[in-house]
Amino acid sequence: MKTAIINSFKKLLNDTEIFHSNSTYFMALRNWLIDNLDSFDEELLIRNRLDSILNIDINDYMCNLIDHRPIVSPREVERIGKIEYDSIDGLLMVVSDTMWELLSISSDEACNNCGSISTRFVSVVADTRPYLFIECCDCGMIMDLNGISIQGKVSHICPAKKTDIEAILG
Ligand SMILES: [Zn+2]
Repeated sequence: MKTAIINSFKKLLNDTEIFHSNSTYFMALRNWLIDNLDSFDEELLIRNRLDSILNIDINDYMCNLIDHRPIVSPREVERIGKIEYDSIDGLLMVVSDTMWELLSISSDEACNNCGSISTRFVSVVADTRPYLFIECCDCGMIMDLNGISIQGKVSHICPAKKTDIEAILG
């Protein structure tokens, strides 16, 4: 099964149409995950934070995808296509990183744990009111907008919607 899944992923990447834009790329990865859902343990999806990505309403994220700096390029095709995936877990980790990167809006805040300036806005899945947090892409620390660490106090984090970020931060 592992080989079949990895081969189906490599086959997906052979279709250069999927790299037309960030949204076509994102939707191709999402559809591939959905088509193969029976092959993935739920625990594996949760560990790789793909459950939250699969549960969002993609229509709410079109602004994120359209306005995001394009990551789709011939180099990206090469990067993701040439990795030697030795497990489904490893494959899902790469897919998740890519999907999160496509959807996430960067924050200007530095991480107060490791000092990295590679941080992004996240929010709680299905929260009824928009509430923003900032997550460090390097050490994984999650802090509130005042820079206070809230690690472990929230779960089910997803990329924040661009519209919510603008509504809260102006
Ligand atoms: Zn950090």
